[in-house]
Amino acid sequence: MPQMLPIIAIDGPAGAGKSTVTKLVAARLGLLFLDTGAMYRAIAWLVLEAHLALDDEQKIAELVSQAKIVLTGTQVVVNGVDVTGLIRSPEVTGKVSAIAALGIVRAELVKQQQAIGARGGIVAEGRDMCSHVFPDAQVKIFLTASVQERARRRQMDLAESGQGEFSLEKLERSIAERDLIDSTREISPLKKADDAVEIISDNLTIDEVVDRIVSMYHLKTAR
Ligand code: C5P
Repeated sequence: MPQMLPIIAIDGPAGAGKSTVTKLVAARLGLLFLDTGAMYRAIAWLVLEAHLALDDEQKIAELVSQAKIVLTGTQVVVNGVDVTGLIRSPEVTGKVSAIAALGIVRAELVKQQQAIGARGGIVAEGRDMCSHVFPDAQVKIFLTASVQERARRRQMDLAESGQGEFSLEKLERSIAERDLIDSTREISPLKKADDAVEIISDNLTIDEVVDRIVSMYHLKTAR
């Protein structure tokens, strides 16, 4: 049996800095990164494109079982369409949590995520990485920040990427709404796993967060 390479699992709510941190940690350690939120977003985009109702579980089940998602670096392609930018639209962001709460969607995507991580050597980020998808990960992190701070960061990201000016109040509301759906859903709700280390990023720079995770990785893998 080939030796399984280590896995770093990072969970946390929307806007806590997971994507940025995950990519930097992966680059520092020469590991692959897996953005599982992008997979849920790709399915949400397909559901919106097909104009399916969110309660049409049968149609959504068919759609997810036939969907071919390819993640290459930061690029996301679904059924041959490059949706890298499209999956970050406010429309997809507004619907993705409801779609990610569906059991059929989670079952299929978790299977694909576990296949991608089967040999290890990845930094995986999402909501249920530590508790459900990679429970044996060597390093488990719960990265969070206050709603206010997350809204502030999201406002900057949206402005920088030319997606427009959004009020902090509106962003706080939409983040809190997504947190609520993600943390109260029946299947794999967002919550810190008992054995995950919590990092609150409000007063930390990105580099400080990355350094902490990289140190934890070295500590674990040096044993
Ligand atoms: O991380 P990101 O904001 O791109 O995730 C989009 C949405 O996908 C989350 O709000 C959540 O509803 C869902 N998600 C999930 N489980 C994951 C990753 C994301 O339910 N592992």
